Amino acid sequence: MTETHTPGSDRYPAAAPASEALFDRARTIVPGGVNSPVRAFRAVGGTPRFMVRGTGPWLFDADGRRYVDLVCSWGPLILGHAHPEIVAAVQQAAAAGTSFGTPTPGEVELAAEIVARTPVEQVRLVNSGTEATMSAIRLARGCTGRSKIVKFAGCYHGHVDALLAAAGSGVATLAAAAEASGELGALPDSPGVTGAAAGDTIVLPYNDLAAVEAVFAAEGQHIAAIITEAAAGNMGVVAPRDGFNAGLASIAHAYGALLIVDEVMTGFRVSRGGWAGREPVDADLYTYGKVMGGGLPAAAFGGRAELMAQLAPSGPVYQAGTLSGNPLACAAGLATLRLADEAVYRRLDENAALVSRLATEALTAAGVPHRLSYAGNMFSIFFTDAEVYDYDTARTQDGDAFKAFFHEMLARGVYLPPSAFEAWFVSAVLDDEALAQIEAALPAAAAAAAAVGARHGG
Ligand code: PLP
Repeated sequence: MTETHTPGSDRYPAAAPASEALFDRARTIVPGGVNSPVRAFRAVGGTPRFMVRGTGPWLFDADGRRYVDLVCSWGPLILGHAHPEIVAAVQQAAAAGTSFGTPTPGEVELAAEIVARTPVEQVRLVNSGTEATMSAIRLARGCTGRSKIVKFAGCYHGHVDALLAAAGSGVATLAAAAEASGELGALPDSPGVTGAAAGDTIVLPYNDLAAVEAVFAAEGQHIAAIITEAAAGNMGVVAPRDGFNAGLASIAHAYGALLIVDEVMTGFRVSRGGWAGREPVDADLYTYGKVMGGGLPAAAFGGRAELMAQLAPSGPVYQAGTLSGNPLACAAGLATLRLADEAVYRRLDENAALVSRLATEALTAAGVPHRLSYAGNMFSIFFTDAEVYDYDTARTQDGDAFKAFFHEMLARGVYLPPSAFEAWFVSAVLDDEALAQIEAALPAAAAAAAAVGARHGG
């Protein structure tokens, strides 16, 4: 480790030898060198940074470089890295045994914390957001005896077969990278998803209640559920229009279908009660993940007691998991939720407002066309001057301008999501030093984006 821990007066060198060596090795034994596609930097090019340590708002890579973290493990770390009380809770749980395959007190406590904060009456713990949405869909189908699911283009609900249709996040990122490189002409749904699995999925444009009405009028009696992100965060952040989520609930209910609100990203981040704490709607099932695991694998789905009673062992809809409700994950999640009081949510709101203001000011000063898109305290910046309200409008952005912006921020010690189709995640522990580093990095990053925009004639 020969580098200093800050970018100094200028920037880190373009080469990152330790990360490069690790990536070379990883690529020989792990597909694409990563265990989740967006981590590979395909949309922005270059070598993904291999992180070795985090503390508070900071991440440290294998070359010893320090970054302000605006990814926060893709959302979970609202209290930053290695929060002492969360670490202590996990250490204590680990010392008492890592897994028992029996009920444990910790999972009852975590379930109680979730039920107290949200509209759900009962909750089942699982290990990932993907499992949560997959199970919620099975339950909705089991309860209604219907097979079709409505989802929205650009929304991502994990890599569930039935939901990998016009999905956001990594799927959108790979599609955009493939389009840009000319590898593939169109947005690919994943090979390996059978026609039978995808055939029951109806994909509609986000924020378009008329399209939902029309589909229900045509085939409402076959639709088990609508699934929607509480506020879309996987095509970049796109807020639901006023009345959109409530409209989904009324349309679904008019036809005897259910509404599943996916709060995996928004849950316990945008407020104490998630998106429902800001905009309550009459949904039937909710899914959670990310923050509720405090950085360990925990997720959940829940809803009205009468629906949840249809799950095994009380009901016939089967769902299970060897490590579900794992004691370490429950300890980390519980510690996080108990620490996340009103002051923490105020800090998250303030930090999101501050970082987004700094970024938009720098982009405006450099003359870069952009749109700040905000939902709760989640935001992203689209490199476009078009209004963004759905997946098609999100895709009007200039991916190359984002790429240039991303790399200048990285070189100046700010770790942004390596894709234009992702939310920027702040933590409550961004301090003056971290904020100053972001502010210092922005003018050069905005200038780099402007130079690309100029080449594109924008
Ligand atoms: N739902 C939403 C809204 C998400 O953002 C994600 C992941 O980003 C998922 C579900 C899937 O969660 P996981 O990656 O834990 O499987």
